[in-house]
Amino acid sequence: MGVRSAIVVGGGISGLAAAIALHGRGWQVRVLERAPRITDVGAGISLWANALRAFDRVGVGERIRSFAVPEMNSGIRSRDGRFIVRVDAEELARRFGAVVILHRADLLDVLVEAAADLTQCGVEVLSVSSAQDRAEVRHAGGVEAADLVIGADGIHSAVRRAMWPQARPPRYAGYTAWRTVVPPMSIEDAGETWGPGMRFGYAGLPDGRVYCYATANLPAGERAGDELAELRARFADWHEPIPAFLRAANSVLRHDIYELPDLPSFVRGRVALVGDAAHAMTPNLGQGAGQAVEDVATLAALLDDDDVPEALARYDALRRRHTQAVVRRSRIAGRLGQWSSPLAVALRDRVLAALPIESMMIRQLRPILDWRC
Ligand SMILES: Cc1cc2nc3c(=O)[nH]c(=O)nc-3n(C[C@H](O)[C@H](O)[C@H](O)COP(=O)(O)OP(=O)(O)OC[C@H]3O[C@@H](n4cnc5c(N)ncnc54)[C@H](O)[C@@H]3O)c2cc1C
Repeated sequence: MGVRSAIVVGGGISGLAAAIALHGRGWQVRVLERAPRITDVGAGISLWANALRAFDRVGVGERIRSFAVPEMNSGIRSRDGRFIVRVDAEELARRFGAVVILHRADLLDVLVEAAADLTQCGVEVLSVSSAQDRAEVRHAGGVEAADLVIGADGIHSAVRRAMWPQARPPRYAGYTAWRTVVPPMSIEDAGETWGPGMRFGYAGLPDGRVYCYATANLPAGERAGDELAELRARFADWHEPIPAFLRAANSVLRHDIYELPDLPSFVRGRVALVGDAAHAMTPNLGQGAGQAVEDVATLAALLDDDDVPEALARYDALRRRHTQAVVRRSRIAGRLGQWSSPLAVALRDRVLAALPIESMMIRQLRPILDWRC
């Protein structure tokens, strides 16, 4: 076999990871990224053991760990601060490996650095097609062909639109999410607080700063004039340290939460979708990036042994059902967390407090966290 070539559309977590994995295996790779440069969105990210194992397969796991800290003990609280559920981080780590948390900027820096020579920014792919032996992408600068095109261009993927014109568009989950990173503060634990139709979560970053996120059931597209003031007002009477975090925050990001309805296939001809382009999910299980990197590690390994069409068929068979099940689980977890009727919420919290949640969680998470390539 001569040198094989791939074009990766999108320079996010999945596109960069795909480029690094294939380049490391001798492929000639080009990443086309529409943004003028690759920057992070100013938030934290949690990576579960499966994600770290996948990054190990890509070859950057150790470097990523060097920027991360294991997550502290966590749990779910009610808005007055009482624990509904406690989660022992050490027990989870003993069973599956640690969950770590890091700043997205550090994660992206590791990937950008490893893929620097492969990436061209400022190139927006307009369409994609596939023939028997080659696939092509078209952008303002012309047409480029390769043995394989990987669509890693996120939830609103142009690759998906071109190759799966019948696919249903992303679906609004019914809630919006704010994210912020606040200056260093001393915290004793991590976790989420659940109130009617709203949640607030936080976790410590390696340098002492605290990654915070919040959700609320609101119509898609609705925006406050001042998002930070909006957030402070919404969570003003929640337990400490939530109001303290919000007093310390300088800015906040807001994104409405969408997921992708199931696709009938992740591959068509010599084109494969990975990451959010294939299976964007709500963030409730902290698995979006993890599943994306699993896709990439799996695809790269399959391409070692098979020609492109055969490897893509096996990729679809291995990844589609698995990731679509994670999308479903994440949706269910989010719906439960976003219940809004005060009566239903009181009942939910009581039931959760009475259940052996930790062992149920371990059973639920095992098929996700035990992933091996
Ligand atoms: C609020 C929130 C919290 C989250 N928390 C976590 C978490 O804790 N843990 C976790 O694992 N996951 C988390 N996720 C999910 C995770 O962020 C995503 O799954 C992951 O970033 C997807 O990466 P991606 O590379 O597939 O897509 P993206 O990050 O969307 O990257 C796509 C890239 O393609 C580029 N692009 C798009 N169109 C084109 C085009 N036509 N031509 C060229 N380039 C193009 C874009 O500019 C972008 O750089 C969270 C998501 C949200 C919304």
